[in-house]
Amino acid sequence: MMLEVRDLSVFYGDAQALDGVSLSIAAGEIVAIIGANGAGKTSLIHTLGGVLAPRSGSIRFEGQEIAGQPSHRVCNLGIGQVAEARQIFPSLSVLENLEVGAMLPRARSSAKRTLEHVFEMFPRLRERSSQSAGTLSGGEQQMLAIGRCLMGAPRLVMFDEPSLGLAPAIVTEVLRIIERLNRDDGITVLLVEQNVAASLRLAHRAYVLENGSVVLEGPGMELLGNPRVREAYLGL
Ligand code: ATP
Repeated sequence: MMLEVRDLSVFYGDAQALDGVSLSIAAGEIVAIIGANGAGKTSLIHTLGGVLAPRSGSIRFEGQEIAGQPSHRVCNLGIGQVAEARQIFPSLSVLENLEVGAMLPRARSSAKRTLEHVFEMFPRLRERSSQSAGTLSGGEQQMLAIGRCLMGAPRLVMFDEPSLGLAPAIVTEVLRIIERLNRDDGITVLLVEQNVAASLRLAHRAYVLENGSVVLEGPGMELLGNPRVREAYLGL
């Protein structure tokens, strides 16, 4: 397994956000996490990414224990994150935003090649490379956030609500990009996506989080047909 999470518990002060979460992701997989608001999805991503320290439990990435390690170290091992709010730097140019992503030691030597790859994938970013990032449309900013993450040469990318607030056509495009990154570039994906049906269709496997615990897991297509999932998350 590329990522093995065992019995992870996370608190904000006295409030428990994750309670004994265990999950695994094999290299090459797309794994989706679904759950209602407040279920703990973002807390999970933040803990895996080193933004939050767990109170207990283990996170092994490619055999190495990373629980509680700071995010710069986790990133440099090859875990990238595309955050919920598309945290780009609006006053920096598109190119400068991408260069920030390549500042990780692991990414520096391949930065030129990766930049060319990102520009091939997102021609709009090349066209607008000297423009300040704040002038991009919402969809373009999301592409930039993905591009910046790729500049760090990740092996596992965690997407937190990548289509939040985007127009439907762009949501489809974002999901297509995730599929392509997985299929063509061999990037392993952890996906939290409000669009539950689409994310289960895309994912090889998925976990359902409720109140900080995993209550169901299985192949994406199987969960898509699960009555409990259909009722709670698909409104069917
Ligand atoms: P959403 O889809 O709304 O982002 P989520 O599944 O990502 O939900 P989390 O944001 O991880 O859920 O929240 C899990 C629990 O932790 C919730 O009960 C939430 O209220 C609580 N929580 C989240 N962030 C904080 C914080 N900074 N301080 C205190 N409690 C928090």
